[in-house]
Amino acid sequence: MPHRTIHIFRKGLRLHDNPTLLAALESSDVIFPVYLLDKNFVSSNTNIGSNRWNFLLQSIEDLHCNLQKLNSCLFVIRGDYKKVLRDYVQKWNITQVTIDLEIEPYYREMDDTLKAMGHELGFQLLSLVSHTLYDVRRIIDMNCGQAPLTYKKFLHILSIAGDPELPVQQITEEHFKKYMTPANTYLIEEHRVPLPEDLAIPRSKSSNWIGGESHGLRRLEHHLEKQGWISEFKKPQTVPNSLLPSTTGLSPYFNLGCLSVRVFFHRLSKIYAQAKNHSLPPVSLQGQLLWREFFYTVASSTPNFTKMVGNPICLQIDWYKDDEKLNRWRMAQTGFPWIDAIMTQLREEGWIHHLARHAVACFLTRGDLWISWEEGMKVFEELLLDADYSINAGNWMWLSASAFFHHYTRILCPVRFGKRTDPDGNYIRKYLPLLKDLPVKYIYEPWTAPEEIQKQAKCIIGQDYPFPMVDHKVVSEHNLQLMRLVREQQHNTAQLTQDAAHDPMELDIKDCLRQNKEPDVSENSNTKRRCLEDTSVETVKSLDPCKLKVC
Ligand code: FAD
Repeated sequence: MPHRTIHIFRKGLRLHDNPTLLAALESSDVIFPVYLLDKNFVSSNTNIGSNRWNFLLQSIEDLHCNLQKLNSCLFVIRGDYKKVLRDYVQKWNITQVTIDLEIEPYYREMDDTLKAMGHELGFQLLSLVSHTLYDVRRIIDMNCGQAPLTYKKFLHILSIAGDPELPVQQITEEHFKKYMTPANTYLIEEHRVPLPEDLAIPRSKSSNWIGGESHGLRRLEHHLEKQGWISEFKKPQTVPNSLLPSTTGLSPYFNLGCLSVRVFFHRLSKIYAQAKNHSLPPVSLQGQLLWREFFYTVASSTPNFTKMVGNPICLQIDWYKDDEKLNRWRMAQTGFPWIDAIMTQLREEGWIHHLARHAVACFLTRGDLWISWEEGMKVFEELLLDADYSINAGNWMWLSASAFFHHYTRILCPVRFGKRTDPDGNYIRKYLPLLKDLPVKYIYEPWTAPEEIQKQAKCIIGQDYPFPMVDHKVVSEHNLQLMRLVREQQHNTAQLTQDAAHDPMELDIKDCLRQNKEPDVSENSNTKRRCLEDTSVETVKSLDPCKLKVC
């Protein structure tokens, strides 16, 4: 007997490679595609800023338009999801609810609620994997019930698991038989996709990123045409401060499931098969998708993954609590133009390059401010279009050397790191127009510019733009010492996410730092500051550990 089905779009906002929707269509004669917009549920589980809201609403609108082209539509139902779902299951005589499987604890809780509701109201729940390359539960089973905690181990398990399953067929008009979605003008209007103002959300000012499957697919196809670029892609060799993304910029689309990771993975495989040579994980594009998969797998089985306390893989560190400093970092007021330009791009546009994320994350945590990675993660969660439960926390732990990354003596310099790929400071000039008239010599260190030059550039340091909030050399050496003690004291925890042998995960940052070696131009500056990019263990040993505070 065919079902009357509600298909709930949670992520998976697409019609290509959508196995759950396909299964729903194949088992039903009536289907209601639904997006449950429960603002309370959203705000109690994630901090979502206005750019991300705008991107989400654009993606839902795009889905609605694409469904309309297939004789269907999307019903956006607002309100408490438990209440509205209960109402609509009864009102529409629903016998099946379909929904993608997700790994976040709040979505798992939602699934338990749906299961219980299904028992009570008599509908069956169908849930399939579509947001990851693999069913992460299978990877964990294959690793004796535990998530592989290093990328190397993870790759080993995947070599046994084989390639991810192939994408399922595109959903077409054929799948939506006529009148399969009972909709009239009134119903469509009642459940239309809200505009930002309907939700009291300011309209996004940035037009660089437009949400939705259609835009995502265009971006994907554009990249896939560049077969040489795809084959040679090595993440550490991409430019963090280019004015347009030097990587694919697909993450916001993968994040909401506007694009399928399996489609991207298999299209990459085809290109690699035709190429003479191609790059490999961890630096290749497939390697990037596998990092995503790695963090999803670990997050799915690690309690309190997005927290330090109660998180068994995370070093327990007595980070400083300093709201004033945190706020200066958040609001792009650190006095280091490279850091402030990145934080401005993040706030205005919602996307920054991976290595730019490295720079600001290292600065906030183990590099300069010694503020908890959780605070940085929350700011990213609000501002990033691609903010993701597993990937965001995983990378913050990595950057703060709390887990996954172990070359903690390598500290990124807030002056020299950006200079390497943008010596003229065009990126800074774009995002911090206040500094745009400074000569090249001072753009990364405006505090070293003589007063006359500052006047000519109409930017007086300490008045129009702040002095650097810390002496990088002093604080980074001190922090390094703290980190060394933490890792000595918590050796067992530190070992959990570290391979005894070489871990390819660490290539990424090593390569990037290797390329960052250049004469220390800041040595010639007025203040004679020396910037660290790689403080040695010898330096650490020469400091007095007794004066340092660790957890
Ligand atoms: P590409 O280099 O083109 O890679 C293709 C895809 O691979 C990405 O779209 C993404 O889905 C995946 N990917 C790439 N790098 C990583 C990585 N290091 N870990 C996991 N998956 C990766 N990425 C997010 O999607 N959401 C986040 O919330 C997020 N938070 C981060 C926080 C910090 C502190 C850092 C250092 C990185 C974070 N990243 C996050 C990872 C990475 O920076 C972005 O995925 C990447 O920059 C997105 O740009 P892209 O699509 O051009 O990536």
